[in-house]
Amino acid sequence: MQDVMLPVRPQLDLGWVWRNRFANLGSAFYTALPPIALRDPYWVARSRSMARELGLEDDWWRTQEALEAFSGNRPLAGSQPLASVYSGHQFGVWAGQLGDGRAILLGEVETPGGGSLELQLKGSGLTPYSRMGDGRAVLRSSIREFLVSEAMHGLGIPTTRALCITGSDQPVRREQIETAAVITRTAPSFIRFGHFEHFCHHGLHAELKQLADFVIDHFFPECGDAAAPVAALLEAVTRRTAQLIAQWQAVGFMHGVMNTDNMSILGLTIDYGPFQFMDGFNPDHICNHSDHGGRYAYRRQPPIAHWNLFALGQALLPLIGEPDTAMAALAPYEEVFAAELRQRLAAKLGFTAASEGTRTLADDMLRLMARERTDFTIFWRRLAHHAAGAPAASVSELFFDRAAIDALLARYQALMHDPAEAFDAGLALRHNPSIVLRNHLAEQAIAQARNKDFQMIQDLLAALEHPCDEHPAHPEWAGFPPDWASDIQISCSS
Ligand code: AMP
Ligand code: MG
Repeated sequence: MQDVMLPVRPQLDLGWVWRNRFANLGSAFYTALPPIALRDPYWVARSRSMARELGLEDDWWRTQEALEAFSGNRPLAGSQPLASVYSGHQFGVWAGQLGDGRAILLGEVETPGGGSLELQLKGSGLTPYSRMGDGRAVLRSSIREFLVSEAMHGLGIPTTRALCITGSDQPVRREQIETAAVITRTAPSFIRFGHFEHFCHHGLHAELKQLADFVIDHFFPECGDAAAPVAALLEAVTRRTAQLIAQWQAVGFMHGVMNTDNMSILGLTIDYGPFQFMDGFNPDHICNHSDHGGRYAYRRQPPIAHWNLFALGQALLPLIGEPDTAMAALAPYEEVFAAELRQRLAAKLGFTAASEGTRTLADDMLRLMARERTDFTIFWRRLAHHAAGAPAASVSELFFDRAAIDALLARYQALMHDPAEAFDAGLALRHNPSIVLRNHLAEQAIAQARNKDFQMIQDLLAALEHPCDEHPAHPEWAGFPPDWASDIQISCSS
């Protein structure tokens, strides 16, 4: 039989130096495989700031080769593509084996800053872990993930980031027929709680230890010096996660699918799906249309993250040994969360340190907002402007119960002038964004992108990169959501 000549796809060399440390873990951790080509790709979006962080020149994307490489149609020189295996608890129930069902880890590149970042193509076709899925991501959810990644980064909240999106007219079946896209995302590591759960569940304790050592060596080196390094790792992840969730709460961010496979071991926000920024403040708000029980409602995010940490602790138990040691590592969660949230709320009020006064004032304000469903972002931004000298009416007009808000604003004035408190109106302006990626803004950008007009994505990106500035070209982006926004339903299907 004659040899079949497979077409050789020439590689694209962007000058990156690759490390690929995850791939060095060995075959128990992944399946090596290339991405699957996306038909006739076109550019949808790019982040210049992310490109710079990766050491790319501003014109890095201007070649057909780059378009092909970031669609999964052409290999990147130095990459070692793979899909990693993990497991996890979904909606509180053990879900068994999951894994990168539609993401390919290309590898890890050195950055000019002296660190390194892993690159993933999400939506790049079937892998051994695709289960019932098609390995694809749709344009809609890719635009949402791209914009919110960079928006969270702009807010200073730990997150995976995004370099670009390529799209295709290739159809993808969801609730309706949509089109395919590939998002390139970056993080120091994409390791999840679920990676540890996987190896524990299968009794693969050598691999479990290898993974824990890998994470300690590369990301938590200080834990390596502790008497019990894995317990120290669990405590460090507990603290980081508590701080992350406090930051979510303070900006009104809801993740929507806090399954253990969507929890980053580095305390990053990861796997954006049906996320939402709060419009009218409702602590019981559920942003995920598929979450009928409200497991991941706004007010449940803090205890759910703790629950997820228990799942991680359970997975690490074969390495930690004593359940009491694991429990001790998880114990700081509530206090770290509460302290971080108190600090964030104090900063939103313009105080450099939290005090009894800032805590009770913030709590009372949130209680009144919840009662009146006051717009979360607009309230805090107007309050910051008020702190900087704008009239109180701009805040009080947001409320029906004027007596209640006026009493709170009087308490606020007293606190500002209390010599025991360190007040700085600039701090309030830097902690209360004028713009967040509300569902309706994403929907508008998506609707235009479906007509091949990608300008709004770039314009929104530019605004979201500086969320605490004013954006006079688009005052409507800082305004109230339109009536139709409350009808937007975002499910897990993306
Ligand atoms: P998520 O909740 O989006 O993080 O996904 C949960 C699991 O389902 C992960 O293992 C994903 O890789 C997988 N998955 C989600 N959507 C798809 C898809 N369209 N094709 C293949 N796997 C998918
Ligand atoms: Mg996921």
